[in-house]
Amino acid sequence: MKGKDRIKAAFENEAVDRIPVGSGSVMIRDYIERTGASFPEFHKDPELMARISMLVSHDAGLDNVVIPFGMVNQAHALGVDVEWGNWEIGTKPSPKNHLDDPKEAKTENIADDDVIRTIVEAAKITVEESPDRLTTPLVSGPVTVAGHLVGTEKLMAMTIKDPEQAEEWFKIAAESAKKEIKALSEVGVEGIYYCDPTASGDLLSPKYYNDIVKDVVTDVVDYAHSRGIYLELHICGKSEEILEYMAETGADSLHIDQKVDLVDARKRAGDDVCLAGNVEPAKMTKDYSEVLKEAGESIAKGADYLKPGCGSPTGTKPKNLKALVRAAKRCCFHGKRV
Ligand SMILES: [Zn+2]
Repeated sequence: MKGKDRIKAAFENEAVDRIPVGSGSVMIRDYIERTGASFPEFHKDPELMARISMLVSHDAGLDNVVIPFGMVNQAHALGVDVEWGNWEIGTKPSPKNHLDDPKEAKTENIADDDVIRTIVEAAKITVEESPDRLTTPLVSGPVTVAGHLVGTEKLMAMTIKDPEQAEEWFKIAAESAKKEIKALSEVGVEGIYYCDPTASGDLLSPKYYNDIVKDVVTDVVDYAHSRGIYLELHICGKSEEILEYMAETGADSLHIDQKVDLVDARKRAGDDVCLAGNVEPAKMTKDYSEVLKEAGESIAKGADYLKPGCGSPTGTKPKNLKALVRAAKRCCFHGKRV
């Protein structure tokens, strides 16, 4: 099977020749240095972004290709300035300022924003030049984008004191995501990695996720499906108490953090949804044999799509990504549950 078909089959709950292997975002120093790319150009140049992501995927043998390297893209498009981070210490792009009023959000021309355009152009390259792999651009989820727009601490207080206003920010983020998804679908993208770390059960109550956030996410899932796009939902941290609700959004795959036990996750999320995960990301910077062992455990516990439990850290060793692929090939009789 081609990598692209392998991931799609896992999303469709169909048989696979072996478990697919991928990663969340891949701002990995080793690969970036091999391309000769410099900071912060690799965030801003679509050609460089595509080259780095394809090098990671092709060299390691992954089934997906992930762009971009940061999560603040939609917040930028909606009017927040971006600090591109300190590459030397591995910090990621983050907002420089915040908005005070939903009316300040520039909701009209999301697809014309220079950062979003960079991602769409990079996706066009990876779709054309890596046709056997599934290009899965990272689009930030509603709670995370709202946190970028107003400040995460302020947002968390708002979810308690003024939940309707928080919901208004989430809806702005969802509309922005839909516009980005539309632009990505127009260059041939068939999968979205919808990543919402701030929706973690470490920060939001399960009841709030179910009552308020779930419908906003469902709207984006439905929109992606209407454009013929698969959507994988990722939430960091302890998400077990919202896994049932995450599955109810209709997302094709739930990518879970290493803090969540896969056996428990399966019981909560049901049999039909693809579960992706969940090798501890920090281990990707360490010992090969540990990664191999933990990847085998993830497969044995029922992962349908083998990944680190989040993105791959900057210091990820290429051989540890290859360990994931090796573990998947070793377990080639895993197939799907029947
Ligand atoms: Zn994560």
